[in-house]
Amino acid sequence: SHRIMLGPLVAAIDQGTSSTRFLVFNSKTAELLSHHQVEIKQSFPKEGWVEEDPKEILQSVYECMERTCEKLTQLNIDISNIKAIGVTNQRETTLVWDKETGEPLYNAIVWLDLRTQSTVERLINKTPGRNKNHLKHKTGLPISTYFSAVKLRWLMDNVAEVHEAVVSHRAMFGTVDSWLIWCLTGGKSGGVHCTDVTNASRTMLFNIHTMDWDPELCKYFGIPMEILPRVRSSSEIYGLMKSGALSGIPISGCLGDQSAALVGQMCFQDGQAKNTYGTGCFLLRNTGAKPVMSDHGLLTTVAYKLGRDKPACYALEGSVAIAGAVVRWLQDNLGIIGSSEELEKLAASVGTSYGCYFVPAFSGLYAPYWEPSARGIICGLTQFTNKNHVAFAALEAVCFQTREILDAMNQDSGIPLTQLQVDGGMTSNRLLMQLQADILCIPVVKPSMPETTALGAAMAAGAAEGVSVWSLSPEDLSEVTSEKFEPQINPEESEFRYARWKKAVQKSMNWET
Ligand code: ADP
Repeated sequence: SHRIMLGPLVAAIDQGTSSTRFLVFNSKTAELLSHHQVEIKQSFPKEGWVEEDPKEILQSVYECMERTCEKLTQLNIDISNIKAIGVTNQRETTLVWDKETGEPLYNAIVWLDLRTQSTVERLINKTPGRNKNHLKHKTGLPISTYFSAVKLRWLMDNVAEVHEAVVSHRAMFGTVDSWLIWCLTGGKSGGVHCTDVTNASRTMLFNIHTMDWDPELCKYFGIPMEILPRVRSSSEIYGLMKSGALSGIPISGCLGDQSAALVGQMCFQDGQAKNTYGTGCFLLRNTGAKPVMSDHGLLTTVAYKLGRDKPACYALEGSVAIAGAVVRWLQDNLGIIGSSEELEKLAASVGTSYGCYFVPAFSGLYAPYWEPSARGIICGLTQFTNKNHVAFAALEAVCFQTREILDAMNQDSGIPLTQLQVDGGMTSNRLLMQLQADILCIPVVKPSMPETTALGAAMAAGAAEGVSVWSLSPEDLSEVTSEKFEPQINPEESEFRYARWKKAVQKSMNWET
């Protein structure tokens, strides 16, 4: 059997916004051997607030590791073959903990959270010309509720425990990668406090040119540098697992989820791009060794740095806050679907939104607008409209948002993409994929192994341990099985719908005035 091919194994912790996964791959073939997934609870304590429990996140990681090891043992696969573990994570989500007790000092503030809107307005008001791009030359990012620095500022201003721990030098700040690596490598008894360049580049405290924390940025946000983790490359040994079945195995890869997907999709060449459909939607295009600044509302971010002595690679990124989250909203808030799978059936039963447009600007609008005060709207309703049309409009919204960032990306780079590589939880929805091809007027290509985010992190981890994953030549890579969705409607119809969508977006931004 193919088990004879079993080479060293590489693993990944994939800590996403909606769930945690642990996955083990055969490094010879990149085949996914086993995995386990646990949902993560999100709490919404006030309007616009989104929190998760750091201990629940950690517990879910341990649980996924244990269950995956059990499954491997049942498959007769020796877990001692696992040579390296990578971490990939929801980005920007902000945590502070006490290094002496090991206890989190507040819930994790999730990237989508809007509580810092007034902090952001205050900061923008004091910049010359009220320019939200005031720090872009260093960070590649606009001042927004999205990034960690403002969330950390909020914690220091509003949570007494955080303030006290900072003053008494007991506080540690981190994104989810830092929290997990610190805990898994020993926590209060010697845990390693680090992050990688990709996660650091989403904090707004990191200078993407010098590739280090920037004293001026820290001063701007009033953040003491001693609470920051050490910044490392995305592929090197950070520390060893301290407990559990995988005790002693090195943690040697770390990438923010969108960077990991870029790596897992093998987008190593300047110009290659991928779009990931999870809670949000993120289109990243590799721009090589040079950070390219966008004139069309995209972010400039560190794509990866696969080794201490390897050069950094940059990307242009279009971020959409709400993609899969709209599916969860239809399920949890409106109750018109019982599960995310059901959405496809409802939408397919009508095959059109019948002129209904749904702009899910629940967290304001990210790229290319960066308008925190936008709010969701459903418009174009008639007596005829039913929930199936709304379901269809929700799927279409994800496609239109991708079209907007793809257009921006094409304008920035001057070289239009001729097809789109996709991945993420929502890509199991075939109707969505077909709609996406129709609305972009280019083919959409989905790899048969959907866990590209985890694969990217596992590849980075393996590389640091001398285990190269999937040592296929570029020619072989083209044979990797994938599914292609070709555009099926005529471009005029696509343009007509897109123009209507743009009108709806304007209304979502102006409905208050
Ligand atoms: P994340 O990494 O952000 O946690 P995932 O890549 O795991 O996200 O994708 C989960 C998201 O995809 C959820 O928001 C879920 O509602 C959505 N989703 C999953 N399956 C489907 C489907 N068949 N149709 C539409 N949306 C789906």
